[in-house]
Amino acid sequence: MISSPDSPAPASPRQVPCPACGTPSPFAKDLNPYRPFCSLRCREHDLGAWASGDYRVGAVEPPDDFDAGA
Ligand SMILES: [Zn+2]
Repeated sequence: MISSPDSPAPASPRQVPCPACGTPSPFAKDLNPYRPFCSLRCREHDLGAWASGDYRVGAVEPPDDFDAGA
């Protein structure tokens, strides 16, 4: 008899490349509060770029690949 450990597959966090430096970082909000950036430093760097540009920094909608569970 084969004993199969009925352990659920660990949810591998989606990783996205940091827009500022390209470092893969977890997209999960719990794991990475600075998503999609890899760190606060990169996020602030990007926001600084935005501020100097013509972008409006407002409510950013998450991409629709947010997994809400099927
Ligand atoms: Zn980064």
